[in-house]
Amino acid sequence: MIPENINIVKDKINRRCLKSGRNPDEIRLIAVSKNTGLASICGALEAGIKDLGENKAQELSEKVPLIDKTVNWHFLGHLQRNKVKYVVPVAFLIHSVDSIRLAGEIDQQAQKIGKVQKILLEVKTSEEATKYGISDPSELLELARFCKSAPALELLGLMTVAPYSDDKELIRKSFSKLRNLKTMLNERGFNLNELSMGMTNDYEIAIEEGATMLRIGTAIFGERDYSKSWREQ
Ligand SMILES: *Cc1c(COP(=O)(O)O)cnc(C)c1O
Repeated sequence: MIPENINIVKDKINRRCLKSGRNPDEIRLIAVSKNTGLASICGALEAGIKDLGENKAQELSEKVPLIDKTVNWHFLGHLQRNKVKYVVPVAFLIHSVDSIRLAGEIDQQAQKIGKVQKILLEVKTSEEATKYGISDPSELLELARFCKSAPALELLGLMTVAPYSDDKELIRKSFSKLRNLKTMLNERGFNLNELSMGMTNDYEIAIEEGATMLRIGTAIFGERDYSKSWREQ
C-alpha cells in the first residue's frame, strides 16, 4: 500500500511540475508520520522516503532512536519553549517558528550543542486555517531580522497551513500570500529559498504557487487512527 501511495504522489508531483514549468528536483517530499507506527514508517523509508515530519516533541524524540536509516526529521507542530531542548538535537528543520521568544530559545539550545539549527517561520495566511503563525507582515519582518542576527539559527524560508476547504481559490490565495511575503523579505535583504506549503488536500495547488517542500501524511500512510497511539499501530 505505502510504496504504491508514494508512487502515486510522486507521479502527481511530477505531472503538476511539468504542467507549471517547474523542475521536480526543486521539491522536497516530506512524509508526515505523526501518529503513524514504525512498520508504516519503515515501509516508507524502504520505498525511498528520506524526509519525515512529526508534530509532537515527545513522539519525535521517541521515534528517532528506533529508526536506523538516515532520515531528515522535520518538526512541523506548535512548539512550546520547554520542549525545544528535545527537538533541537534531532531536527533537520523546524518549520513552526512563530515568535521571538521561541526563536531565542532555539538559538540558545542550538548554541549549547554546537549546532546551527535550520528554521522556517510559520505564517498565518488565512483566518480559518490554524491559530498558529504570524499574520502581520511587520511582525514577520521583525522576527526574520531577529533570526538573522541569532548566531545559531539559519533562516531558510516560510511555512503555512492553508484553510481546509473545497474552495481552491481560497487555498491558492493562502499560498500566494506566503510566496509574496517571501519576496517582500528578500527585497529587504534576506535570501530565503524555501516555501513549505501543501498537504494531502492541496499539494498540487501548492506546487503551482511555488512550494519547495510538501508535507504529506494521509496520501502516503492513509487516514490517521487517533483511537490508538503510534506504538499500537
Ligand atoms: C498533519 C500535518 C500535515 C499532513 O497532513 P495530511 O493532510 O495528512 O497530508 C502537514 N503539515 C502539518 C503542519 C501537519 O500538522
